[in-house]
Amino acid sequence: MAPPAGGGDPEVPAPAAERPPAPGPGSGPAAALSPAAGKVPQASAMKRSDPHHQHQRHRDGGEALVSPDGSVTEAPRTVKKQIQFADQKQEFNKRPTKIGRRSLSRSISQSSTDSYSSAASYTDSSDDETSPRDKQQKNSKGSSDFCVKNIKQAEFGRREIEIAEQEMPALMALRKRAQGEKPLAGAKIVGCTHITAQTAVLMETLGALGAQCRWAACNIYSTLNEVAAALAESGFPVFAWKGESEDDFWWCIDRCVNVEGWQPNMILDDGGDLTHWIYKKYPNMFKKIKGIVEESVTGVHRLYQLSKAGKLCVPAMNVNDSVTKQKFDNLYCCRESILDGLKRTTDMMFGGKQVVVCGYGEVGKGCCAALKAMGSIVYVTEIDPICALQACMDGFRLVKLNEVIRQVDIVITCTGNKNVVTREHLDRMKNSCIVCNMGHSNTEIDVASLRTPELTWERVRSQVDHVIWPDGKRIVLLAEGRLLNLSCSTVPTFVLSITATTQALALIELYNAPEGRYKQDVYLLPKKMDEYVASLHLPTFDAHLTELTDEQAKYLGLNKNGPFKPNYYRY
Ligand code: NAD
Repeated sequence: MAPPAGGGDPEVPAPAAERPPAPGPGSGPAAALSPAAGKVPQASAMKRSDPHHQHQRHRDGGEALVSPDGSVTEAPRTVKKQIQFADQKQEFNKRPTKIGRRSLSRSISQSSTDSYSSAASYTDSSDDETSPRDKQQKNSKGSSDFCVKNIKQAEFGRREIEIAEQEMPALMALRKRAQGEKPLAGAKIVGCTHITAQTAVLMETLGALGAQCRWAACNIYSTLNEVAAALAESGFPVFAWKGESEDDFWWCIDRCVNVEGWQPNMILDDGGDLTHWIYKKYPNMFKKIKGIVEESVTGVHRLYQLSKAGKLCVPAMNVNDSVTKQKFDNLYCCRESILDGLKRTTDMMFGGKQVVVCGYGEVGKGCCAALKAMGSIVYVTEIDPICALQACMDGFRLVKLNEVIRQVDIVITCTGNKNVVTREHLDRMKNSCIVCNMGHSNTEIDVASLRTPELTWERVRSQVDHVIWPDGKRIVLLAEGRLLNLSCSTVPTFVLSITATTQALALIELYNAPEGRYKQDVYLLPKKMDEYVASLHLPTFDAHLTELTDEQAKYLGLNKNGPFKPNYYRY
């Protein structure tokens, strides 16, 4: 596949006002990828009325927000901090000392620092202390328009990408369907996401659809160096490595946007840092940007804040709240990864163990289902009678945490709330009780209350601490109360495929939308596209979807090609 190298291209798209109206999803290249040409509903009908209603709900852990005056602060109920933008005249060439690097990392959004483990890393480059910024590297075609840890790791990264491709059928299908048609021809996408094998499949798909891409990491720890090397080797200007300092983080973003002769016209962001950087440093760039696609709860919240303050100057797509992302990310991802996280850290057996799961929302339901299937005895705590009734009818004992805290072997929090497990609960747990969190914030378990002189902390494995009471009782705390699955296990590629496909379709939709379809606001992807994302994943299961007859469609008042449900449908 021809690499969509972004750098050095002198071609700059005309400002929006001068651009001829782009074809909508019903015509032109995008139509080839639309579920039914010309019938995609107006996304304006999908505007979300309450911008904040789910802002604690997702796994990205980001918490910084843009306030109406443009300053960046924390979200409610999260860690207190203020993002420092190291002054607008940031000097990138000053390399921070190690201590400086550590202290700097406090001032970037939490989504940029949350640990996130993905596929295994083949090459341990910890002995290589040289900053990638100090290295002169070229790929085999002679390009040096990238900055990665070690370009020589490209082959290992390529294998990871090929493995991921097997579990990302929809993106591979998009590539096939777009052969000859390039719905993203002319698109210059600047991206800031986790750089993993799954992201690489997305980037290469965008390239196959005609886009040029430049990419930075949205998290200073999550980059898979081998994958970044493979992307750089195939011509993608990628600026990312595992263990960036904050200075590196912003330098990498800047290298993606501040390029002579190349200017982005689309943004794909995860956490809002890239969008924010462009707002702060290069506001004029927005004259040529056709839209922003944002994945994370944090980034979406930032966009709504900008919109509320009248400062959002391009349309934006909120991928975070797509049905396909929410249902699959929260329920299925957790159902698949909870056991993995527990097993990798503790080697425990689940059969017959007593587990209490706090919260029976999507994440709690996934955790309970997985544990029940393994033969665990599962208790549930809830505050909401509807979810509580669901738990009962699914066969779980609904209890107050106090009632079972002395007897359980494992405590799992999934509420999105704070102080669900208090020091009092921790004091009463039995010896060897395992405590972990699957919710967004690391304050669901009051870990801070355990940092007192009478308790001893022993790090027994990576991400596993024994906290020892004066009488010798110890509890096993996983990932210091941060998201267990993101810290200690992998996340299923198939789930990421669903999100990545949604991102690709959102980019195609925004890029090809005729003038006026989207205003300077935040939109949800049209439901029909959500349905399309799902349908692209069905062949993996050899699933045979029933088609409505004309008579049935008329009876239900539906179009035979969808959308099949009203926007308020809960699934
Ligand atoms: P949800 O709102 O569907 O479920 C949370 C449930 O917790 C609700 O039913 C609520 O009534 C209940 N609850 C709130 N306070 C409680 C308390 N004190 N005691 C008992 N129950 C309480 O949300 P969700 O989609 O299940 O997400 C839960 C958390 O998991 C969020 O923080 C979300 O960001 C995070 N999340 C994690 C992952 C992951 O991969 N680990 C994925 C998606 C979301």
